[in-house]
Amino acid sequence: MSALAKPDLFGGIASLLYPPSCTICAAAVDLGEYLCGDCESKVSRIVPPFCAKCSEPFDGAITTTFACANCAQRNLYFEAAVSAYRARGIVRHVILNFKYGRQIHLRHLVARWLVAALDDERIRERRFDAIVCVPLHSARQRERGFNQAELLAEWLSGHLSVPFRPVLQRIHYTTTQTAFDRAERMQNLRGAFRLRKKADVRKWRVLLIDDVLTTGSTLSECARILKQAGAQSVYAATAARA
Ligand SMILES: [Zn+2]
Ligand SMILES: [Zn+2]
Repeated sequence: MSALAKPDLFGGIASLLYPPSCTICAAAVDLGEYLCGDCESKVSRIVPPFCAKCSEPFDGAITTTFACANCAQRNLYFEAAVSAYRARGIVRHVILNFKYGRQIHLRHLVARWLVAALDDERIRERRFDAIVCVPLHSARQRERGFNQAELLAEWLSGHLSVPFRPVLQRIHYTTTQTAFDRAERMQNLRGAFRLRKKADVRKWRVLLIDDVLTTGSTLSECARILKQAGAQSVYAATAARA
């Protein structure tokens, strides 16, 4: 049985007992909705122009394709990383509650943001052979009880009818990344991931999933491992980006 079956069933029963309410302000909402119209209007949607590689928005008028300063300076191994929302305010709050607050039901809302990211001209028409998620170290996964990226990847696999293949493994329990600058983050991640034994990703066109893109270093390192093992292309999608 999937780890998700219980909360779903329980959520179904709970919704009969309690009228649905906004996850942020508790205002009444329609069944199946997580945010009221007011809170929904406050989420920060990413609109063009943005970096062709990492989707970093640019304040200003650019009509040509461009790479942001961060991408121009370094080698990112994914083809492009798409996000439709900024990980700020309500979006950040919901993702943190989903990830650390054990509010697993919020994956439905986070997954919607992820689906919105896929409606992007860089990947809309693409075919993928596999969906892969950024793995958590097994010790951290035990501690948290689940890997949020894996829940999203599994959900998306059903939604897109593309197989979910958890071929990556995190072998180093890296210290928190926030204290590092970009170059140090990249260095800190070297050797953090590997391909699972017997995984064969040759010629795969991969859709790589994580909840949030912060600097792109983690997604890039995962893409590097996949491509080194023969993957043809790696596009990354996250529910939100910093
Ligand atoms: Zn609300
Ligand atoms: Zn960029």
